[in-house]
Amino acid sequence: MEKDKRKNYRRRWMAASRSLQKTRHKPDTTFSSDDDDVVERVDHLEGEFSQHYGNIGHGSHSFESHSLSEPFLEGAALNSDTLSLNEDDEHSDINAIENFCNSNEIEILSSDSDFDDSLSCEMLAQDLSQWVNSHCIDHNATDSLLGLLRKHGHSNLPMTARTLLGTPKNVPTEMKSGMQYIYFGVEKQLLSHLELYPEETLRDVATFDISLNIDGLPLFKSTSTSLWPVICSLNIKPTKIFPLALTLGNAKPFDLEFLRDTVQELNRLLLNGLNYKDHVILVKLKCIICDAPAKAFIKSIKLYSGYYGCDRCDQRGRWIGRMTYPTIGNIRTDQTFRSRVNDEHHHEAISPFCDLQIDMISQFPLDYMHLICLGVVKKLLLLWKRGKKDYKLSAHQIDIISRRLIALRPFIPENFSRKPRGLDEVDRWKATELRQFILYTGKIVLKGVLPPEFYMNFMALSVAVSILVSPNFIRYHIDYAHQLLEYFVESGRNLYGEEFLVYNVHSLLHLTDDARTYGNLDNFSAFIFENYLQKLKKMVRSGKSPLVQIVKRLEEMEKSKFFREHTQADACEILKIKIKKTNNAFIIDQRTCCEVVAKTNQKDQEGNILLLCRLYERPDALFLEPCDSRIISVFKAARRNSRMKLIPMDCLRSQAILIDEGENTITFMAVLHEI
Ligand SMILES: [Zn+2]
Repeated sequence: MEKDKRKNYRRRWMAASRSLQKTRHKPDTTFSSDDDDVVERVDHLEGEFSQHYGNIGHGSHSFESHSLSEPFLEGAALNSDTLSLNEDDEHSDINAIENFCNSNEIEILSSDSDFDDSLSCEMLAQDLSQWVNSHCIDHNATDSLLGLLRKHGHSNLPMTARTLLGTPKNVPTEMKSGMQYIYFGVEKQLLSHLELYPEETLRDVATFDISLNIDGLPLFKSTSTSLWPVICSLNIKPTKIFPLALTLGNAKPFDLEFLRDTVQELNRLLLNGLNYKDHVILVKLKCIICDAPAKAFIKSIKLYSGYYGCDRCDQRGRWIGRMTYPTIGNIRTDQTFRSRVNDEHHHEAISPFCDLQIDMISQFPLDYMHLICLGVVKKLLLLWKRGKKDYKLSAHQIDIISRRLIALRPFIPENFSRKPRGLDEVDRWKATELRQFILYTGKIVLKGVLPPEFYMNFMALSVAVSILVSPNFIRYHIDYAHQLLEYFVESGRNLYGEEFLVYNVHSLLHLTDDARTYGNLDNFSAFIFENYLQKLKKMVRSGKSPLVQIVKRLEEMEKSKFFREHTQADACEILKIKIKKTNNAFIIDQRTCCEVVAKTNQKDQEGNILLLCRLYERPDALFLEPCDSRIISVFKAARRNSRMKLIPMDCLRSQAILIDEGENTITFMAVLHEI
């Protein structure tokens, strides 16, 4: 620790010396070696240097040896920004150094070129390691690049990627649950990630909450090797995500021992809080987010294919070639779960999570990424594409939907991770594409193609999810969303048959219970974890020891401080993006939307930048069933009814998708999900 501190100080000092060198050539200076004040100041300074930096290796300062031919300090002005000493006497130090340098009496670092080179090399190495990490460059390529750079003047760079990145030599793993296992530690990881927040963010934090995600992740297409990570999200904005434990093997873990370390440490932290610097912060476990199979596994309950497979109610399933749940049974509670009232719901083993003082029902919420996007929405698309003839669409109808989807591509804002694809690729659609379909594009592309009663059934789900995903709409319309979900399930039974009522569809009837506890769906969804899991997957570059590879990459990133970068787009950048077509549509309020056309130099009384906007006031609803679309900020507007107006930037309430289908009519749809 002390060593790091010294190294840090040394780096700062060298940065200061660099700034000095940049301004070294100033001629008209004098040198007075017999100035007692100077000697006194230098003595003081020398003392300070020793105190802060130790012996910086220049031998004794030889006052007599300097002359005007030594230009190093001539006229130099220290940049106090670079020389932030971060000590109580910071200012006096800086003043002393400035006075000292300005007086040109002395060369402090005249022989510092070695240090300067070393600093420059160190900075280059740090930039390189960040670049290697962010672009997933493999070690062989990095070795080769280092060789080239060393050959062309950067001979101080490390010879190997291993040294550059600080790759650990050994990664000790153990066996748990029949899998290779490594445990990082909850407290250790929390402390390490709390360090990434600015001090002012944590100053008033007395409590924070965390969420866990546990899921199986297949690593390769050709083998059954899968990773079972225990991932944690630290729910202080901006959310940090990191692993607590990694488990890897050729199948899934054969028992729940791989959770034991995490649960034991969590138990202690939830009871005693976390010692952070000089105070204790309380830690709360908000929820554990999993898909249905992983949830059944870690709770040690029957899978959704079992007769008592619903984790929210005790409704007995009905087997009709698949397990269906025709209605809702008695709602499960923590008490009925722990006392195993419905014994057929449980496996024999007791879940390690029962050791925690948590609600074994409500703290395992229904995740809409798996349940709705990858579950119900994908099921609907597949029923239309290749289901029974009663509801299967013709090839021509599928083609119309696909062409409409492709036609929407130019209107999707750049901050969406994917553009729409045709239904010919539906088997490969990702969860984000399915979310885009249920929230936005489906409402448009299915109209007039699906038979009206099927379209209305889809719209009930689409509007319900639109409400539940929005932090704003959910506050006012959660009851209505629940009614829509009930309608969707019931009319779905009529349209698609009893076999429609599988676990995912049935669980929609329980979804608003979780939304009442946790708020909008993104507050308890697997989407944020999914991105992280994909990153973990990309860390595996070959089939040899995948777990070791992942741990090494994580350590390299930690060392290169890749995760510590919090680049925030500045206001100008944000503005530039907002003016760009496809990103420039916004909802102002329930009765107004706009397109941003240009930035002006004017500001309003509060100092907000005024934007020139094409304003659409009192737009019409795009649809009226199942409800007036304006309730979820979906509008139909006409360009001829628009007018130009200056709008303060902070009036742009939410981003929108603007679809211009010609004929003077455009559609605005508020972007509802968390981007
Ligand atoms: Zn149920």
